[in-house]
Amino acid sequence: MTAANAPRKKRRNLQSDRKARLHQLYSNDDVIKLYEISRNTLTNWIADGLAFIDAEPRLFRGSDLNAFHGRRRVKATGEPLGLFLVNCFGCKRSHSLLEGEISISPGRTEGVFRASLTCPDTGARANRYVCSEEVEAIQRLRETNPGRETRD
Ligand SMILES: [Zn+2]
Repeated sequence: MTAANAPRKKRRNLQSDRKARLHQLYSNDDVIKLYEISRNTLTNWIADGLAFIDAEPRLFRGSDLNAFHGRRRVKATGEPLGLFLVNCFGCKRSHSLLEGEISISPGRTEGVFRASLTCPDTGARANRYVCSEEVEAIQRLRETNPGRETRD
């Protein structure tokens, strides 16, 4: 008789070697299956700049998936990260640092800042660490993009 509680098959971590088909559209579940990731990981990837088609249901282009993983591998220094999204534990979605009320305070490490955003739905604080170049980019983008304020 074999032990019933044999260790579960170890998951291989080959995500970056996997290629999506350029001209194919992937659903949430397709992406999760393709890279053998959890739903949380997918949420993190989106927060980290993975582009998607804002449809119901959400769709991902194969070319965007490949580009995202390519970017992760070569992450250029100083380049602002996507849309500056922050994971929010209040509403379980992500918010952009380019909208709403944010505050930026120095982190513990020199050159690192903590950007803190108040969730418009739950009032929870969502934090993300950014470098000084990113702080500048955020401030610049917020100035040029006044958001949803009504205009005449
Ligand atoms: Zn929120």
